[in-house]
Amino acid sequence: MMYEKERATAVAAVLRAAQLCEKVRAGFCREDTHEKDDRSPVTIADFGAQAAIIEMIESMFPEDEIVGEEDADLLKGSAGDALTAAVLGVLGPVLPGVGKDRLVHLLERGAGTGGRGKRFWTLDPIDGTKGFIRGDQYAIALALIEDGEVVLGVLGCPALPVDTAVTGEKTRGVLFDGAKGDAAVLMRSFVDSQHVRPVRARGAVSLAEAVFCESVEKAHTAQSRSSRIAEMLGVRATPVRIDSQCKYAVVARGDADVYLRLPAQKGYVEKIWDHAAGSFLVQQAGGQVTDMDGVPLDFSQGRALTQNRGIVATGGGLQDLVLEAIMRERAERG
Ligand code: AMP
Ligand code: MG
Repeated sequence: MMYEKERATAVAAVLRAAQLCEKVRAGFCREDTHEKDDRSPVTIADFGAQAAIIEMIESMFPEDEIVGEEDADLLKGSAGDALTAAVLGVLGPVLPGVGKDRLVHLLERGAGTGGRGKRFWTLDPIDGTKGFIRGDQYAIALALIEDGEVVLGVLGCPALPVDTAVTGEKTRGVLFDGAKGDAAVLMRSFVDSQHVRPVRARGAVSLAEAVFCESVEKAHTAQSRSSRIAEMLGVRATPVRIDSQCKYAVVARGDADVYLRLPAQKGYVEKIWDHAAGSFLVQQAGGQVTDMDGVPLDFSQGRALTQNRGIVATGGGLQDLVLEAIMRERAERG
């Protein structure tokens, strides 16, 4: 099998980070959340999870570059001592004996620039931090990219039900992983290591029955445009709103058929760690992913998807119909 060692390492690292995140969430308090320069929230679990995953990748693949979402800026200097102590508190059980210098080193190992012609990992330690704080969905996303192509994707979804929402299954926590050269995307239950099964995107589905999903956050996707597009297509069900790359996960396992993400803020460029693992898993599971213009996602442009606008992911063979409806909606708006 290709990427066997990378895949095993990535799965173990994401599981370890997921446990750390769930532990933080179980005793979550206001002091666990901080604000970054761009005013977005970050928690002690974001830092802990990034450090825990990077430690594992670095020990197995010391030469590999890593493009991670978080940096160590808030932890530096005496101003960062209290936050550092809190992060070390959650990291201690996972990485005993780690101190501030080592923590800063691990976080800063995620400062890779990405780009073309090389191999690197990309990591979102907590994708959907707002969902994490709210008590909703979030994901731990890790992917390996070689010369602009995603070759391995792992998504940990600690709050996603093991079985589809439809069955009312209450056991939560699943991990999805797939690698180039292996047709199967696997879904493993966090709680039952025996529960491992391949997942596929839904086969042909009629638009009337199609299930759309989108971000909970109005600032992250133009919900009103998506709703008009769904209406134009004759979609009946109201969209499912889910935080994080769990949206890709539900398309990959056939709970939903379309994930639409249309620019809500002029000038915002999507980040590679928000899409590499999820888009790869949808495609491996038989679905399709492009941007809103039908262009493949280009992971060779550095830390952001500078050549793409918006995201369209589908199972059920709906990609062309959705892309065409996006064009019609654009024409309608003038
Ligand atoms: P979601 O949970 O789908 O709403 O996506 C969460 C991700 O949205 C975060 O990890 C951010 O990187 C990203 N994000 C932040 N601002 C924006 C924006 N203006 N448009 C789209 N995505 C954004
Ligand atoms: Mg994210």
